[in-house]
Amino acid sequence: MSIKVFAEKCTGCTLCVKACPFAAITMQERPESKRKLAVIDLDQCTLCSACIPSCKFNAIEIKAEKESSKDISHFKGIWVFAEQREGEIQPVAFELLSEGKKLAADLNCELAAVLCGDESIDKEINKLFEYGADKVYLLQHKELKDYRSLPYTRAIAEAIQKHKPEIFLLGATTMGRDLAARLAIRVGAGLTADCTGLSIDPVKKILQQTRPAFGGNIMATIISPNHRPQMATVRPKVFKKTKDLRPKTKDLNIIKFSPVINPEDLIVKILEVIKDESAKVNLQEAEIIVSGGRGLGDPKNFKLVEDLAKVLGGAVGASRATVDAGWISAHHQVGQTGKTVAPKIYIACGIAGKIQHLVGMQSSDTIVAINKDPDAPIFKVATYGIVGDVLEILPLLTRKLQESRR
Ligand SMILES: Cc1cc2nc3c(=O)[nH]c(=O)nc-3n(C[C@H](O)[C@H](O)[C@H](O)COP(=O)(O)OP(=O)(O)OC[C@H]3O[C@@H](n4cnc5c(N)ncnc54)[C@H](O)[C@@H]3O)c2cc1C
Repeated sequence: MSIKVFAEKCTGCTLCVKACPFAAITMQERPESKRKLAVIDLDQCTLCSACIPSCKFNAIEIKAEKESSKDISHFKGIWVFAEQREGEIQPVAFELLSEGKKLAADLNCELAAVLCGDESIDKEINKLFEYGADKVYLLQHKELKDYRSLPYTRAIAEAIQKHKPEIFLLGATTMGRDLAARLAIRVGAGLTADCTGLSIDPVKKILQQTRPAFGGNIMATIISPNHRPQMATVRPKVFKKTKDLRPKTKDLNIIKFSPVINPEDLIVKILEVIKDESAKVNLQEAEIIVSGGRGLGDPKNFKLVEDLAKVLGGAVGASRATVDAGWISAHHQVGQTGKTVAPKIYIACGIAGKIQHLVGMQSSDTIVAINKDPDAPIFKVATYGIVGDVLEILPLLTRKLQESRR
């Protein structure tokens, strides 16, 4: 975008000076007109356009620059950030590679993983090929052993600028969200966070990034037509990980990249890694989740949910209403602002099934819903529905399961 004052239209009335919230406009004498005209200080101007309606003489104009004139044709291939923690690649990387394989087939391009770490990370590389990577960019440096925003951003941005991928996918984890935003700014790309679907436009061959918008009431498909790479984050468990069954060549395609890390990137030092409580509530890896909602009626009734989860060997989930009410910690929350889960069995107990909850659990293999309202929306996604009082049904289920195991 650019802003311009038309000298022949400006009368020097100063209305725009008063309208500008950023004090970016002053009246200055122009030699050619020998009178005072509006001059915009481009360092102060934010292009907010407050001055445009204030000018009665249409003397100021903001113009969108022609983005499409940029040549982006040399950006090729799909990259997936292979997030590792304590030297172990996280499942979200395999999920993204599995989905990336389909996108790469549609674009007829290579799929690559980007792995950062120190020398010890070598042992993990093979896993990336197992899940479909055609190539691995290995960014090795002692300062990349554990994640820190600045060295990781520096290293990966350098690799992007050198190798120019067309698409770059990251997990919407704490690490992925932090890194993706910084990288997008560094390389001048757009970023769609928390996508729930990715596809390739069959005609334009660009990435269609779908995510809930307006509080989950609509699904928006976002494109980035003029900037590369097209960047998106996807939450863990949105896509399923599937091993690549194609025969492997003997020579693995590993591109070693030695990033230059500057001293100013090392201002944060890791003294100790302390795992937070959420690591213990491993909802995203659980095969069975029993979740409680406001229908439990009282925080003490979460004990019924815990009992059933225990007998099934599962984890305890929760709706946001119960988290907001302080019945259970936020680490248990499933949904749009909680965790996305896809267990083999999801049991929703006294949960209405509002869209913000459903987006976090609807890809579970089997959904069992217990609700006293037969019209509750949760029944629309449920494989099995039990209409009744959760306070009666939960102890019954737990008892029956305990008996069957004796
Ligand atoms: C931007 C935004 C983000 C959000 N993010 C999330 C999110 O991440 N996760 C999430 O869960 N919500 C989220 N919400 C809130 C969401 O809209 C709902 O308000 C919330 O999911 C409702 O929780 P609930 O189903 O437990 O409670 P309620 O809506 O109160 O439903 C309780 C259900 O229990 C049933 N019931 C009552 N008594 C019994 C009984 N004795 N036996 C059986 N059934 C009974 C009722 O029929 C009802 O269906 C978000 C909202 C917004 C606006």
